[in-house]
Amino acid sequence: MTLLTAAVATTANATPQAAADQFPYNDERFADLQMLRYQVPGFNELSLRQKTLVYCLNQAALYGRDILWDQNGRYNLRIRQMLETVYTNYKGNRNTPDWEAFVTYLKRVWFSNGIHHHYGCDKFQPGFSQEFLRAAVKSVPQSQLPITAANGSNPAAVDALCDELFPIMFDPTIMPKRVNQADGQDLILTSAENYYGQGVTQAEAEAFYTQMKEAYTNPKQPIMFGMNSRLVKENGQLKEKVWRSGGLYGPAIDKIIYWLKKALLVAESEAQKKVINKLIEVYQTSDLKTFDKYTILWVNNTEDDVDFTNYFTESYGDPLGMKASWEAITNFKDHAATERTRKLSDNAQWFEDNSPVDARFKKEKCKGISAKVIVAAILGGDLYPSTAIGINLPNSNWVRAEHGSKSVTIGNLTDAYNKAAHGNGFQEEFVIDQATQKLIDDYGDYCDDLHTDLHECLGHGSGKLLPGVDVDSLKAYGSTIEEGRADLFALYYLADPKLVELGLTPAPEAYQSQYYTYLMNGLLTQLVRIEPGKDVEEAHMRNRAFIANWVLAHAAADSTAAPAVQLVKREGKTYVQVNNYPALRKLFGTLLAEVQRIKSEGDFDAARNLVETYGVKVDPDLHAEILARYKALNLAPYKGFINPKYELVKNSLGIITDVKITYDEPYDQQMLRYSSQYRTLPYIND
Ligand code: ZN
Repeated sequence: MTLLTAAVATTANATPQAAADQFPYNDERFADLQMLRYQVPGFNELSLRQKTLVYCLNQAALYGRDILWDQNGRYNLRIRQMLETVYTNYKGNRNTPDWEAFVTYLKRVWFSNGIHHHYGCDKFQPGFSQEFLRAAVKSVPQSQLPITAANGSNPAAVDALCDELFPIMFDPTIMPKRVNQADGQDLILTSAENYYGQGVTQAEAEAFYTQMKEAYTNPKQPIMFGMNSRLVKENGQLKEKVWRSGGLYGPAIDKIIYWLKKALLVAESEAQKKVINKLIEVYQTSDLKTFDKYTILWVNNTEDDVDFTNYFTESYGDPLGMKASWEAITNFKDHAATERTRKLSDNAQWFEDNSPVDARFKKEKCKGISAKVIVAAILGGDLYPSTAIGINLPNSNWVRAEHGSKSVTIGNLTDAYNKAAHGNGFQEEFVIDQATQKLIDDYGDYCDDLHTDLHECLGHGSGKLLPGVDVDSLKAYGSTIEEGRADLFALYYLADPKLVELGLTPAPEAYQSQYYTYLMNGLLTQLVRIEPGKDVEEAHMRNRAFIANWVLAHAAADSTAAPAVQLVKREGKTYVQVNNYPALRKLFGTLLAEVQRIKSEGDFDAARNLVETYGVKVDPDLHAEILARYKALNLAPYKGFINPKYELVKNSLGIITDVKITYDEPYDQQMLRYSSQYRTLPYIND
């Protein structure tokens, strides 16, 4: 294990920047979506056993795909099959507006795992005509169309299929929203999600689960009622159709179990075997107490490199917030990043002793925290293609309270977002000149990560309150001050020679990239996330604003030369201009000392004054300018990922010798492959 750590760390550090930048992070763009690709650094350095384990867990992660499609809407699997049959077989003219609109529609449906927007939940309105689609459907092989017994037989069956599915696609009044949250309406009857059977009302569902909760005999350890079932009405009686082997979604779940059993054979440890075995038991029984036991085993399994989640997990898709959508991710530890955080943690006391903070506010004994950074190997279900960049599970409150949770950041996805943003014109628009742009190109991403590490591993853990000071004395300003304190600690030390000594900085001037982007964000570009006329409200945005504005205001105070940083206008556009980076570091240090004093003494008035003066108000003219410049860039608001492809390499005896990873599968080919290779469920699941 130790050997592997070193080997991976060396390889990752040695990756030339140029090679990394040639990876095609940006893929195609359509509607409001930008497709991205992510690399899986470190995969090739895993042992064969670990690679095989990842492969098996990936298979389990992909075999649940149909479940999510059905959860998102009763007709999604049928519509998908109909659209894909047309997409692959249509012999007509593919150069018409109708065809183009059809392709865009299908790509959006793929992205959303159904016919409603993945984020806004509104049904997509097709940009092509019903006549076009009917003619297209009639032109393709009937045997591949999702015709059911109810559609009758040749030749009327195809028309009957269109008659049945077209209103669901085209009529804006039918199933208009996947998840309706409008107060005062029956949220279940008006939502198109498939978590409740036909005719079940909100009042009935609420009464059903209230009764179930009241009858539960262990209120201190409540299970997540209703989480893994559809609630249906049969002969006037409400009942749960549970998702398990032999139950609803059984065919998909059996495939998942099959691959989990394969994973057992190559598991890394006994503890990990227990986790996988317990999950299999959950899939077999759907018992929610067993599920809690599984999550406890999972939370405690922190030693192994490879990790995963694979179950019904988040409940955003249910208007009542109970029923969980199926999702999966396979991942492994990022040893290079973990090595970085370990170096910082090991030297926590040095950083504490040498900070510009008053000695009275320093910790005598300082312990750093090793954060876990992971590499995603595959995204599945509700994490694909749109995904999270951090995971914090399980969701059960009592399990979290008694056993803790796993909180990780997914380094390679964050990295892909960053890299993809390089070519999109954003920095070209807002960065002042080529020299600064080059600095950011060379060191920006690396220093972003380092800033996060310093912030998380050292910043939050540094300093102490004076005896008798109430932890809540800063009240509403508490989290802004705390985040600012951690940021300032990171900013101050990013420029320290100690990082060179520890081998954590690629070049002595690298920190300047972070200084520039931090100030540019705090002074200018984070304003794109605020509506015109509004103040800065969110704690992280406030902390960045107060740091940047305070530094700007104090940059000229003690110097007759040019200020350390200033805002300049060129051709009507505002830019950040840094004249003196070492002087900036001094300013960050001065503010760090003051913010630590505020925290240590619980000085509420000073906290309020600092945040209200520098962190809340927005200059309306500057705000309007930034919003206009951002809008002109026409960037896609939503992004999602194409997965890499994994293939087993076998020798002539059929023995696995390697697992090969490739990154060049086109978006449509990946979706079509998943639909054929991982298709598990009937078109309609009742
Ligand atoms: Zn923080």
